[in-house]
Amino acid sequence: MFLKKISLILITVLCVTACSIEEVAPPKQFYVFGTLVGVTVWGAPKNKTAEAVNMVSADFQSMHERWHAWNPSQITALNDALAAGESYTLHDTQLLEMLKQAQQLAQKSDQLFNPAIGHLIALWGFQQSDLAQTPPPEESAIAALVAKQPMMSDLIIEGNQVSSKNPAVKIDLGAFAKGYAIDVVMDKLKTIGIKNAIINAGGNLKAMGRIEGRSWRIGVRHPSGKGVIAAIETSGEESVITSGDYERFREYEGKRYSHILDPRTGHSTTGISSVTILDKSGAFADAASTALTVAGLDNWHAMAKQLGVKHAMVIDAEGKVHVTPNLAARVFFDPDNKPEVVVTEPLS
Ligand code: AMP
Ligand code: MG
Repeated sequence: MFLKKISLILITVLCVTACSIEEVAPPKQFYVFGTLVGVTVWGAPKNKTAEAVNMVSADFQSMHERWHAWNPSQITALNDALAAGESYTLHDTQLLEMLKQAQQLAQKSDQLFNPAIGHLIALWGFQQSDLAQTPPPEESAIAALVAKQPMMSDLIIEGNQVSSKNPAVKIDLGAFAKGYAIDVVMDKLKTIGIKNAIINAGGNLKAMGRIEGRSWRIGVRHPSGKGVIAAIETSGEESVITSGDYERFREYEGKRYSHILDPRTGHSTTGISSVTILDKSGAFADAASTALTVAGLDNWHAMAKQLGVKHAMVIDAEGKVHVTPNLAARVFFDPDNKPEVVVTEPLS
């Protein structure tokens, strides 16, 4: 029964092809940011819907090219300049804005969200499409990069000039760009008169309005990486963003190494399988979901309070779900296959 409901959700969110409702656009999916991005629009005239879908596709493609972490892009050009101790003129105003917001969120998260650790991410091999099945990097190499303490606060942004006090800074916006992008695109959809839509960037979603007169429901992937563990109902304009250790990882001799790194140790995070945050801002929820994963099982709740997170759901490495009371009221689990669920103290 629940599976049926959830598959309905997935059909609604991801694959509307089978729907006969005229106002729902056929799902448009494209491969950007290393993941499938999809958009669904409801209740708009056909021509408006087509315009919206084309716009979303073009915008994502453009952001993907401009902000790629390792293919030649605005980010790699900026990183080359920073490594050489040079100042870089950034004409990409969205990227400038993103860097400024990332600076604030890095500071607020005590550097647990730290997009300046690109060298560390590259050392682990996570800045490549095919992940190596080789031993993890040497401890000495990890320690050397951690000791250089690259931070977003090392960046000096004056107008469109960006430089760094620390040549060890290498920007990787993998933990932030998808959330930021869905905000940008949703705002743009509003400007052309779209009122009901959902954008899915690889499990990072933002919904607005309703579908067929009811709330959108967003499926959260099972930490096994297969299927859906829960569905979350959105209200108005809201993002549901998940950081998961199953998204990208490398494996060696049966041990898994998550793509989310603790900047304090230089190692992959452990203890938490996934963090889901619900917030109006996708950018905020994206940065926060990464920061809470790094904070770990004992400290995620305190970090959520510190950041001003309102709704959070954490799935620990044992599969137990920890959910804040206000989100618990909006999460639906399969009654036939319900995980162990703990409702935590409220965040505010
Ligand atoms: P997310 O799925 O949003 O948690 O983002 C994970 C991606 O962000 C990784 O693939 C890395 O590119 C990057 N990353 C890993 N660890 C961190 C961290 N502590 N702070 C910021 N970015 C990170
Ligand atoms: Mg994130």
